[in-house]
Amino acid sequence: MAQLTVNNEIIGVGGLVLLIGFLLLATFPIGTIIGVFLIIWGGNLVKVYRCAACGNKVESVKILVCPVCKEKLS
Ligand SMILES: [Zn+2]
Repeated sequence: MAQLTVNNEIIGVGGLVLLIGFLLLATFPIGTIIGVFLIIWGGNLVKVYRCAACGNKVESVKILVCPVCKEKLS
């Protein structure tokens, strides 16, 4: 049984969405609304689940068996 670890990986699409979100916050009022949505969305995108046994990226917490090392995930 391997642990499922959660990391915030800011480099990549999620980080970019967060950055655009923060920039849009300054453009009141429409940009502020879009910016808030982008920050919530980006916050989900930067959250990455990994198998603790082999370090493989796992799509979601609903996956019970690691596709690479076949360890059961908790
Ligand atoms: Zn694994």
